[in-house]
Amino acid sequence: MQPKKSLGQNFLANDSIAERIANSANFSSRENVLEIGPGTGILTKYLAKKAAKVLALEIDRDLAGKLQKEKYKNTKIIEGDILKINLPRLIEENNFKEYKVVANLPYYITSKIIRLLLETKYTPQEMVLMVQKEVGERIVALDGKESILSISVKFYADPELLFDVSRENFDPSPEVDSAVIRIKRKENIPDIDIKQFFSLVRAGFSSKRKMLVNNLSSSFQISKDKILEWMKKSGLEPGVRAEKLGVEDWVKLYEVIGNEQFR
Ligand code: SAM
Repeated sequence: MQPKKSLGQNFLANDSIAERIANSANFSSRENVLEIGPGTGILTKYLAKKAAKVLALEIDRDLAGKLQKEKYKNTKIIEGDILKINLPRLIEENNFKEYKVVANLPYYITSKIIRLLLETKYTPQEMVLMVQKEVGERIVALDGKESILSISVKFYADPELLFDVSRENFDPSPEVDSAVIRIKRKENIPDIDIKQFFSLVRAGFSSKRKMLVNNLSSSFQISKDKILEWMKKSGLEPGVRAEKLGVEDWVKLYEVIGNEQFR
């Protein structure tokens, strides 16, 4: 069977890395796991050993069919598209309300899947994900350069880079290296209007090279003086760029602006 490039089918071809990924989720014997895109099942095999129950969702009918024949006792292979399936229903039907996600993600939809899992009704406590290395680094933003993606993750969770995986460990070998990251759900997320909050964040990042004040002023059609007044109240320097703001800075700014602009 030829790997389907359009479905991001770069299969992991190194058992010890698959085992290391499964181990990184630190399963207790009663924890369940959702795997997205099990593919040939290299990771599924280790997840089945470590977790209580495994749900594995694969879009490719041929691969799903093959895996269904493997018959691991505690594993259910489902054919479906993670972006289209009714995830809350799947979770409810399988009594999965507390679960982890472990996956070597299809790279063409990485951000969409992460967002979906952070925002869905029953969010996983923890995700251990293999992603494109550059995306992993952008999410964690150890270089101090935040992005819409990193803020979207850090609003809900604490991300951490675990280890790199070079491209030779895949078949076919992709053009980029990979990294395994952990995204751990926060106990408490700010109790604010999430849509409005992210409209502020998006406005702040609207032009990469511009300062925050200019981006907010042009996006919201509000004078720079007013924006600078809000920024000062939030403890932000006038010349700051969006990439320098952490989640707490955004929340503070949102709350300062909130009363006047969003209500
Ligand atoms: N887990 C396997 C491994 O580590 O070798 C396969 C990983 S491969 C990078 C991504 C897998 O996700 C492929 O099997 C692909 O068919 C599947 N996939 C792609 N898009 C998907 C979607 N929307 N929903 C579910 N699975 C998807």
